[in-house]
Amino acid sequence: MEYYSSHINNLIEQLSHLPGIGAKSAQRLAFYIMSMPREQVEQLTGSIHSARNNVRYCKCCCTLTDQEICPICSNEKRDHHTIMVVENSRDLAAYEKTGRYDGVYHVLHGAISPMLGIGPDDIRLKELMQRLQTEDVSEVIIATNSSLEGETTAMYISKLIKPSGIRVSRIASGVPVGGDLEYIDEVTLLRALEGRVEL
Ligand code: ZN
Repeated sequence: MEYYSSHINNLIEQLSHLPGIGAKSAQRLAFYIMSMPREQVEQLTGSIHSARNNVRYCKCCCTLTDQEICPICSNEKRDHHTIMVVENSRDLAAYEKTGRYDGVYHVLHGAISPMLGIGPDDIRLKELMQRLQTEDVSEVIIATNSSLEGETTAMYISKLIKPSGIRVSRIASGVPVGGDLEYIDEVTLLRALEGRVEL
């Protein structure tokens, strides 16, 4: 690594911290950035800055938004009695794309994973429980992934909510095991939603 300028070494190191970017990809990206026109580099860094500085968690559903309350939570036409629980904002976007779900969401930003040391306190579960106490909710649809972590999270949440008498359901297993929701086509998503089973 001593062959390059320390500026390039630093850039490579920063890039290699990103998920899915190994040492080789980081190197390739760094050299590509060096070859980009300056204005394009500025646009890239500018968009990273403005996204990071302006986007925050919705005070209600915890999704990423640039407002205090996201457009879905502030939409009075949505059914606020039904909350779909998803692992991340990408999964929310996948369900929104189907255009067939009119309830609201709760974004956990992760899933429980004893193996990775991620417990219930590390995801936005407390916020969900607070919502259930203060809002008039009739059904919670758990749409976490069908991975081991997703299933563990679903079971944990259902046990937590059940005593309250609120209906808890889980999307059907039309979703392939270990499949990330965001990669699944809309038809499969809708089938999973419609075929949900009460827990
Ligand atoms: Zn929201």
